Amino acid sequence: MVQPTKYIWMDGELISWDQAQVHVLNYTMHYGLGAFEGIRSYEVGTNEGAIFRLSDHSERLVESMTICNLKMPYTADEIDKAVMQTFRANGLSEGYARPLAFVGSGAMGLFAYNNPIHLCVAVWSWGAYLGEEGMNRGVRCCVSSFTRLGGAGVLAKGKIPGHYVNAILAKEEAVRNGYDEALMVNHEGYVVEGTGENLFLVRDGEILTPPLQADILGGVTRDSIIHFAHDMGIPVRACLFGRDSLYLADEIFLTGTAAEVTPVREVDGRVIGRGAPGPVTRKMQECFQSVVRAENDKYSNWLTRYQVEG
Ligand code: PMP
Repeated sequence: MVQPTKYIWMDGELISWDQAQVHVLNYTMHYGLGAFEGIRSYEVGTNEGAIFRLSDHSERLVESMTICNLKMPYTADEIDKAVMQTFRANGLSEGYARPLAFVGSGAMGLFAYNNPIHLCVAVWSWGAYLGEEGMNRGVRCCVSSFTRLGGAGVLAKGKIPGHYVNAILAKEEAVRNGYDEALMVNHEGYVVEGTGENLFLVRDGEILTPPLQADILGGVTRDSIIHFAHDMGIPVRACLFGRDSLYLADEIFLTGTAAEVTPVREVDGRVIGRGAPGPVTRKMQECFQSVVRAENDKYSNWLTRYQVEG
């Protein structure tokens, strides 16, 4: 359960958590058109937080709206400020931010491009998305019976609420069958993503990840991992692979703002590697933590630091 915080930013002002409500004819609620983001901040000092790759997230939010041909009423810079303001107002030096751009009520037919567009930003404390144990020991996954939406019918580069119905069905099926997470194949049968994470595998010292063209979201964390791999001199290659490659991998990990770097220890009942996070996964976890905790100067420009009142 999300623990309520004090304020939510809505259309330019901070209002109380309980006041942040919408009408039942809210268009996005009916049809799923809109755009959202997930952003994390980390405590980096006393009463000091740092938001990881804030402007990349704000820009992707604007891009998701562009994909939908919706006019975002705020610039990426203004969204940056709104996110920071919401963390500060709530006294959260570490937490998760959820900006959501949604279409309000007005017309109820499918063409409603004159309805008002709103932006809200909520923040809350959020621990390890796939659990502390999963983060330390690795999670258990299945390859889902649901195909990841893609091809010409879906604009996979947008983080669009309606797209997530498919991911939610995959997640529900996985959890009901006793797994922690579902891995999804695209319409061609290649394994491309988790339900809210990008996918990496390690084999013979090389890191493989599905390419951006493969109906995946261009993850900010995915991009960060590719940078880290280059720094470490570990070869990294974007390529397509099937579920058999997963079974034969030395290591698998998932990345995302919520999931950070989560090791996978089992897929469809097959133990991956030694059934525990492998050395490359551990290195990536450590590097990611050192960067977000402001312990790695090389990437200090990825952090937007802010103070909260003590
Ligand atoms: N794929 C999907 C479908 C997602 O929802 C997410 C979470 N935003 C990701 C990948 C990971 O993206 P990021 O690292 O930018 O959070």
